[in-house]
Amino acid sequence: MVVEDDGAIRQALTRGLTAVGHVVTPVAQGADAVAAYASAPVEVVILDLGLPDMEGESVLGVLRALGDVPVIVATARDDDRDVVRLLDAGADDYLVKPFSVAQMDARIRAVLRRTSQPQDAPAVVSVGEIRLDPRSREVTLAGAPLELSRLEFDLLHFLMQRAGEVVTKPALLAEVWRQPWGGADRTVDVHLSWLRRKLGETAAEPRYLVSVRGVGVKLVDPEAVQ
Ligand code: CA
Repeated sequence: MVVEDDGAIRQALTRGLTAVGHVVTPVAQGADAVAAYASAPVEVVILDLGLPDMEGESVLGVLRALGDVPVIVATARDDDRDVVRLLDAGADDYLVKPFSVAQMDARIRAVLRRTSQPQDAPAVVSVGEIRLDPRSREVTLAGAPLELSRLEFDLLHFLMQRAGEVVTKPALLAEVWRQPWGGADRTVDVHLSWLRRKLGETAAEPRYLVSVRGVGVKLVDPEAVQ
């Protein structure tokens, strides 16, 4: 779904993405996007932030409440704080206008690769009191379920599979965010801080997520002898 109030951009994007094989639902307003998604869910939403009827962030919030469809924000604002706030609010990726159809198509494919279910059923992993089941995408901490966003889940899964190893932020951006060209380290920091909060710990008093200054982060079993 392409949510864009600028008719010329909407048509160009719809035509371009259709030409590379996507089936596109174009809508011009936030309320239309919500209504269309509620009646027929789509695989990915491209969301313009500057919409006439609703703030793009509000649309993102409603979509997030309806399901976990990947959202790529198309923004004219290249303010880093806006971008971090949106990623924090659950956007999966963003592109700053102007962008080409090829760039958007690459982001769409990356997001879909990241969010599609793998073919081989991956194994349940446990570290300390955290248990993560990749098939049901359920995580428990000491038996209690944790509500994680898709990115938080993927980040935790990646770190759990490498428990005890220091993982660098560029490696996380490449493997979890699928941004081999790099991205904002702060994106990683924001998601790590959310994950920490859900695991009931802080950066100052870590249990599972231990930052290694200037290198990266590692996930450890707090009960294991270090
Ligand atoms: Ca706009």
